[in-house]
Amino acid sequence: MRKLILLFVFLCTILSDRSLALSADDLATRDGEIAFGQAWLKSMRSRLGERTDPFCIDLLETWLTRLKNQFDLGAMPMTALCLNSQEFNAFAAPGGIVGVNRGVYLDLTTESEVMAVLAHELAHLAQRHHYRGLRNSERLSTGTLATLAGVVAAIATRQGQAAQSLIMGGQAANTASALAYSRDYEREADRIGVTALQGAGYPPQAMSEVLQVLSEKQSQSTRDLAFLSTHPLGIERQSDLDARIAQMPKAENGTPVLGTVDFSLFRCIQTEGLQISYNENLEANCEPVHEILKLYRSEHYEKAVAAFDALPKATRNTFSGLDLEIALTIKTGDFDRAQRAIETIALFYPSWLQPSIARVDLAIAQGIPELPRELRERMVQRPERLDLWRALARFAQAFKQDHLLFEARGWDALLTGKLEAAKTQLSRARDAWPKTLDQRPLELLGDAIKQTETL
Ligand SMILES: [Zn+2]
Repeated sequence: MRKLILLFVFLCTILSDRSLALSADDLATRDGEIAFGQAWLKSMRSRLGERTDPFCIDLLETWLTRLKNQFDLGAMPMTALCLNSQEFNAFAAPGGIVGVNRGVYLDLTTESEVMAVLAHELAHLAQRHHYRGLRNSERLSTGTLATLAGVVAAIATRQGQAAQSLIMGGQAANTASALAYSRDYEREADRIGVTALQGAGYPPQAMSEVLQVLSEKQSQSTRDLAFLSTHPLGIERQSDLDARIAQMPKAENGTPVLGTVDFSLFRCIQTEGLQISYNENLEANCEPVHEILKLYRSEHYEKAVAAFDALPKATRNTFSGLDLEIALTIKTGDFDRAQRAIETIALFYPSWLQPSIARVDLAIAQGIPELPRELRERMVQRPERLDLWRALARFAQAFKQDHLLFEARGWDALLTGKLEAAKTQLSRARDAWPKTLDQRPLELLGDAIKQTETL
């Protein structure tokens, strides 16, 4: 019920906001799609249950970048969202916004399978299924962006029927078809996705494995599964895909972003606090990792580090292992060790924001009131990364630097669709900003606010 109310508020916001009253035709262009996606994200962001976990976001961005080159997506930016929900679901919204629930890691056991899900989602985007679905539907007569916004919101939040009846003013007929991708689109997304999956260096069979996981889940439970309600399964979907895979030329697999051990650890971290089931003997047991995280959450940091050090070396020496090591050793005050782990990740992935954000937390722990040098550069390059501004807010609070706190809160408000609050924070930041300090950060935020207003 709470979700329903929120959704209603969101729809009213969309409908009452003159600046968003684009017609469906505006979505025919990539620019229109991106503008729609960004506006949609701003209105939904605070309700998605986003996890501002830099490592998870960087990794998802890296996966998406690998796949994106396999599609005709032009210069579409990718916005990666790590979501907290335990349900099996992933979605793509117009404009390159891709969200993945941590619940998928309960069932997906390899990077290839995750990539298969992402390839399927990107195929929906590349084929513009949202837009084409709308065009083909007789509901295009209402042809406003709000309709599409509702469809996308429904897909992301699973409040499908409810959202749809709200939008259509009770026009309940055939609601499912506007909400979900059609079965034809599903087959198309599988077909195009599996080719992209192989092109990106992953075994195409992973896509078939994911469908098997889904059909097992479907038969196990009568509960409506979010992913299946928007991506209908159908028996023919599996057989079509398997026939296609059988015809595909053999290809060498590439190197995954995370090695097998690394992915297993990442999976354990993502499923913290959840009951993970083990089938066969191919998976590492997550219990020791979940225990470390439990110790960490209950502030038994020394014990957590001891438990971490008891993990096999091959597990510790992974990117996920380094990320965990940084979090633990910053807490125990082993700053040299944290620093080394940060530098290792930065060396392998210079574009990742995780090391920059970790340096902020390290500076806070060390009591050094100096922002890591590259952080300003990162904020200029990637102002849409909420985790950056959250890190700046932590820093500003730790060292009582109000001008930075207002700046961080201004961006946070802007990215989560609170335009008035963003303006208030900006004016506070202006008042508090030291005269001798570079004024450009204020200009950047001011420009971004203006841009949102004129959208
Ligand atoms: Zn689908």
